[in-house]
Amino acid sequence: MSTAEAPSHLHENPYEIARQQLRRVGETFGIDPNLIGVLELCKKTVEVSIPTRMDDGSVNVYTGYRVTHNIARGPSKGGIRYHPAVTRDEVKALSIWMTWKCSLMGLPFGGAKGGVVVDPKLLSRRELERMTRRFTSEIINEIGPEKDIPAPDVGTDASVMAWIFDTFSMNKGHSVLGVVTGKPLAIGGSLGRLEATARGALYCIEEVLREETRSIDGLRVAVQGAGNVGGHLARMLVEEGATVIAISDSQGGIHNSAGLDIPSALAYKAERGSFEGFRDAETITNEELILLECDVLAPCALEQVITAENAPHVQARIVCEGANGPVTPTADEILEDRGIVVLPDVLANAGGVVVSYFEWVQGLQEYFWKEEQVNARLNEIVTRAFRETWETRLERRTSMRMAAYGIAVQRVAEATITRGLYP
Ligand code: GLU
Repeated sequence: MSTAEAPSHLHENPYEIARQQLRRVGETFGIDPNLIGVLELCKKTVEVSIPTRMDDGSVNVYTGYRVTHNIARGPSKGGIRYHPAVTRDEVKALSIWMTWKCSLMGLPFGGAKGGVVVDPKLLSRRELERMTRRFTSEIINEIGPEKDIPAPDVGTDASVMAWIFDTFSMNKGHSVLGVVTGKPLAIGGSLGRLEATARGALYCIEEVLREETRSIDGLRVAVQGAGNVGGHLARMLVEEGATVIAISDSQGGIHNSAGLDIPSALAYKAERGSFEGFRDAETITNEELILLECDVLAPCALEQVITAENAPHVQARIVCEGANGPVTPTADEILEDRGIVVLPDVLANAGGVVVSYFEWVQGLQEYFWKEEQVNARLNEIVTRAFRETWETRLERRTSMRMAAYGIAVQRVAEATITRGLYP
């Protein structure tokens, strides 16, 4: 039995978006069109079928992908997504964005991404484990510590990484710590990795506020998504003195213009599975959340939630892309024209892959760092990338996205030219 097609959140083809963005970067920064022609395409796309024994004895067959976009600067790096609406082109786009993200952060990695067309919420833990182990076996020749290193993304977590690590290691006959990141602490994960994506986003917000000579105290934020990024970001913002006025999950959200009690709201959701019925808050839809009056809007869930339709009505001054690709290119132009600062995904959510890099290094060296060291080095890397992006934006009179992509693509271009075209 194979699974039925799920309704998609994608209005536009993300791969086309990623390619279009790259062509614009090429024109703006004067990069050789031959090179852009190479970088527009993914180096390798692997599609596999994943027959999985369900608990009732039946067999479901899932489709999985692992795409390597580019390895000019090092082994490819990027998460694995479990979502019912995953497509090959979505995974390709996400792998391209990983190349730019790693490059902007100055990490010695290229970009990759994986995905399985599955709703993980509908599988039992044992089914999820069997599916993950079979997927790992199907892509076992693609991944490895010097080759391609997966990590968590939407719908996957540390347990999934543990199964990938174990399956790969059993096949090699010894533990291979560097094969995935985002592992549980008990088997070589890094302190600070779980919160790293949110922490990086927080550092970016703090840097913009520094530019505006404004403090985070009383900053009004709406957070879309309560997963690993949105949930931790909301909690950290409140700890730093901001007011989180709204938060949501895939089913909908809650709003209180005076501020939400975020720790209680997250505990409530953890217990009951949704925010529905949480005290002192009105229920809102995910669409309504995007349009709330606030200082910072942080879309931390899926792609394409800010579109040509709703971008003219966004009331935030700053949009912080906790998710990958939440703003479509047309929406991006509208926000830019309206003077809204967009902190692009490759900058705003790069904290995760930065600490993945630390985890990979710690694993290879078998020497583990203290959490303060992890966070201090994360801060150094994200803040430096922010400053470079901000300065390029001012010099070129362009958007933060164009500046970030420009820096990133130029670095990959330089590596490609320096290595030369084989043969
Ligand atoms: N999936 C995350 C991202 O989109 C993390 C990738 C990684 O750590 O390799 O950046």
